[in-house]
Amino acid sequence: MSNFIVGLTGGIGSGKTTVANIFAAYGVTLIDADIIARDIVKPQTPALVKIVERFGNNYLGADGYLDRAKLREKVFNDSTAKQWLNNLLHPLIRSTIGKELSAAKSAYCLLIAPLLIENKLTHYVNRVLVVDVDEKTQLTRAMLRDNNSQTLIKNIMKSQLPRQERLAVADDIIDNTVALDKVHKQVEKLHQFYLNLASTK
Ligand code: ADP
Repeated sequence: MSNFIVGLTGGIGSGKTTVANIFAAYGVTLIDADIIARDIVKPQTPALVKIVERFGNNYLGADGYLDRAKLREKVFNDSTAKQWLNNLLHPLIRSTIGKELSAAKSAYCLLIAPLLIENKLTHYVNRVLVVDVDEKTQLTRAMLRDNNSQTLIKNIMKSQLPRQERLAVADDIIDNTVALDKVHKQVEKLHQFYLNLASTK
């Protein structure tokens, strides 16, 4: 059981995955809020059954998986449906995060969540670590990685907190505009810092 949790966040394409993998190489357990959010609505799960009961079969793809984009669109325009869905999913997400934390063996854990601040997961972490790049770098890297249009990435960026508001909540910041060897150095320093914090908690 880790009782010290670092929340890792940043906008799309800021470098969360890249940074998390460097921490993982030090043996730090990673808990990914996005993976949990996908897993709890996999085919045959009680949550998916309830979603289909409420919204209908047309929110399922041909493969039986939830069409998350379609459901997102639906709740975007329907605040009652959004509330219903949040009431169903948020407690499940929180309890799954709790279970993964209890099972974790490392001195501290990283909770990776693009919407850590937006979804108020900050209540569950001891520190907030923001991976930071300027918007131009973010856009270029996200477009290159996913082969997505500028419009799509810009829309996703608009649905996330603006850079300065995210930075205002940060306890620690990794500057990811620099070359990867310099990113490794920043992670190494933070890792030692978090080990100290975790051992004195
Ligand atoms: P996120 O998980 O926050 O969406 P990623 O870690 O996937 O972001 O990084 C986005 C893209 O930018 C990836 O293709 C990644 O390889 C690249 N990238 C990340 N950090 C750096 C860096 N310091 N220098 C150059 N490219 C980087």
